[in-house]
Amino acid sequence: MVNFVNRDKNDIFGIPVLGFIFKNRIFLRILQTIILGLFLYAIYFGFINPTKEENLFTTGLFWGLFWPFFMVVTLSTLGRVFCGICPHGFIGKYITKFGLKKKMPKKLANPFIGVILLFLGWWFVYYMFPGLFKTPYASALFFLIMTVVAVVFYYIYDEMAYCKYICPIGTMTKVYSKVSFTKLETYTDNCQSCKTFDCASACSYNLKPFTFAKKNSIEDCTLCMDCSTACEAVAFKFKAPSNGLVKKFKVNKAEVWALILITAAISITMSFHHALGRSAIFEDFFWTKTARYFDGILNFGSIDTVGLFAFIYAVVISISLMMGGMYIASKIMNVDYEKTFYTLGYAIAPLFIVGGLSHVGEFFFYSYAHNITNGFNQAFSLGLDKMAPLASRKDAWVHIFNIFNHIAYIWAFILVAIRMKQLDTKRYLKILAFPFASALIVFYMSLNFYKAYVFSTYGANKSGHNHSSHQMKPNTNQYKAQ
Ligand code: SF4
Ligand code: SF4
Repeated sequence: MVNFVNRDKNDIFGIPVLGFIFKNRIFLRILQTIILGLFLYAIYFGFINPTKEENLFTTGLFWGLFWPFFMVVTLSTLGRVFCGICPHGFIGKYITKFGLKKKMPKKLANPFIGVILLFLGWWFVYYMFPGLFKTPYASALFFLIMTVVAVVFYYIYDEMAYCKYICPIGTMTKVYSKVSFTKLETYTDNCQSCKTFDCASACSYNLKPFTFAKKNSIEDCTLCMDCSTACEAVAFKFKAPSNGLVKKFKVNKAEVWALILITAAISITMSFHHALGRSAIFEDFFWTKTARYFDGILNFGSIDTVGLFAFIYAVVISISLMMGGMYIASKIMNVDYEKTFYTLGYAIAPLFIVGGLSHVGEFFFYSYAHNITNGFNQAFSLGLDKMAPLASRKDAWVHIFNIFNHIAYIWAFILVAIRMKQLDTKRYLKILAFPFASALIVFYMSLNFYKAYVFSTYGANKSGHNHSSHQMKPNTNQYKAQ
């Protein structure tokens, strides 16, 4: 253990105010307790006020504050800091202390579980039943179930196994945090003579922060900062953006698949269904036509078939482009397919996490700001006047946030080029393979230009709303007759 270090200029722990926010134990405990309190109150509030009309707080907190700001914004910039104040991780550390401390069985110690839970249990259901999770009651029930599952896993298994393997956003936050411009590591010179390893003893996740720099990976670190209060040699540094993806590190297959599935489920499906679905020609797209065809021959009940087929097509296209593109690239470069796929697959990380900032920026003005304010006003009886949206889709200035979509694919192209350096082959072969290895990125880029073309040529549908959802499903017989 070390009691004093001369901190580097880029060490956040040495910067006034930021150092206090990220390292002060009392401040962090107060923050974690406030977040836990809000989380539990939002669940309770969701049960006693189950409908949207009487409850803006539960959905405002979960979907207007936690998801866009604590997840998308912080992950792409500061890294996994949300995990550090996550209510589940916070209570988990106490539960695991008096729990059974069993080893997680091998079958369950699989990060694919969390990825699949997020992909099928959340996004698949979300597109089929778009209104479901948006109600306060459903949101409260979902988070209550996840809390019960988390408590059971923390109690039975050690090393915060729930965070590592079961949490639906655990693997996602782990891989997307590599895009950020921060890194937790230690002053390795100070660590050389260390005999106590207090940093490792303080870590509930059984990690060794003094190995992070050498491995170029913070592994399952949730940036809870417990180790930083155990030893002064722990540092939290500003680095170049995506520093975690530039140098070599041990690849994790679940992480690459998490990137592909999340890009498909969020970036591509939303471009199909939510963006192009608002255009005047929404009936002409192949996912809408497929949905209308099946609506005519099968009864899907309350399922939003357009959302369902937009999701299915997005997933099939994304996986095909990744696998097919990487296969051709591997053949051109004469490099093993798996090595090509998992080395270069990480390069698509900016598509969702940086591109997603365009959605967060716009929706802050359309809905998040007033939903959060009105929700807190309602839940804590603040007596404020009801806040109106800060902007509407008709306000052209809000579209400035689209810039993040363009930054996202440029960033991803750069990462493909950088990560190609890890492949041992001739330079001209890498240049030839580049467009194939970037197939999904090229598709994402083209989709952005296509969306701009569609709206400038055909415009939005008259109401400006997504008309392809099941609520607006046209009379199928009438449609067939046309
Ligand atoms: S960071 Fe860990 S290994 Fe390094 S000096 Fe401190 S306790 Fe020892
Ligand atoms: S390495 Fe440090 S910051 Fe990361 S999880 Fe462990 S104690 Fe928390």
